[in-house]
Amino acid sequence: MFFSIFQAILLAIIVMLFLSVVIHRSKYMADYIVHLIRFEHFVHYREGTLSPVSEARLRIVKRKILVLDMDETLIYAKRYRPSRCGDMSGFPYVPWDFSFTIESHTGTFYVYKRPHLDYFLQKVSEWFYICVYTASTEIYANAILDYLESEQRYFCTRLYRGNCIDVLGVRGKFVGVVSMDLQNVILVDNSAMECGLNPNNSIRIKDFVGDPYDFELQNLLPFLDCLRFTHDVRTILKMNTNFPNVLNVLLQLSNPFRNVQRN
Ligand SMILES: [Mg+2]
Repeated sequence: MFFSIFQAILLAIIVMLFLSVVIHRSKYMADYIVHLIRFEHFVHYREGTLSPVSEARLRIVKRKILVLDMDETLIYAKRYRPSRCGDMSGFPYVPWDFSFTIESHTGTFYVYKRPHLDYFLQKVSEWFYICVYTASTEIYANAILDYLESEQRYFCTRLYRGNCIDVLGVRGKFVGVVSMDLQNVILVDNSAMECGLNPNNSIRIKDFVGDPYDFELQNLLPFLDCLRFTHDVRTILKMNTNFPNVLNVLLQLSNPFRNVQRN
């Protein structure tokens, strides 16, 4: 009798332990199964403790500024206009995270957070100063950013459409607006043109339009983790990216002598 009760308790403990491990890991298991089905590149980021050498390295390099674009990089927002008679085309098939209205705009904006966004912001805010730089209007962007920061403050600076710069007829973001110390600025943006305007400081991320199985933010973490140890981010970014320099192209196009044939 004693052994049967003892065995029952032991069995119950083993089952509880097994279930706690399964429940704890289920999110990662689900992600991994989705990855296998979709055959997409997927990084399971694990953060280890820093070695004394790495900690010493961090003390001698400057803390970097991570400049994040908002639309299609951190979130996807879609406006629903009642005048379009319930037309929901272009809306993702998953539930939205947040909705809001703006007095001066008709309709409602529905916002979808990119998967793993909260974890991403939590991690990168431990490593970098975070700045949001969006080409959207201040009133629209603040409604979204306030929601993203409702539980924890991540963004040191917010820059909007008014902070974009007009160069030779093209309005865009320039990371020099955030800091002139370009050794220590990294831009993450989904737009090829914005990356081309900052060719040595940019990482281009895939457009996010509501895909619930998007892993891009999570996949970016190991690379960003490495960049915080560098003395000059441009040396690494130049080796890993190849953006055409949009400023050079614009200068060539605006050159009045470009069509003059040399004899
Ligand atoms: Mg964007």
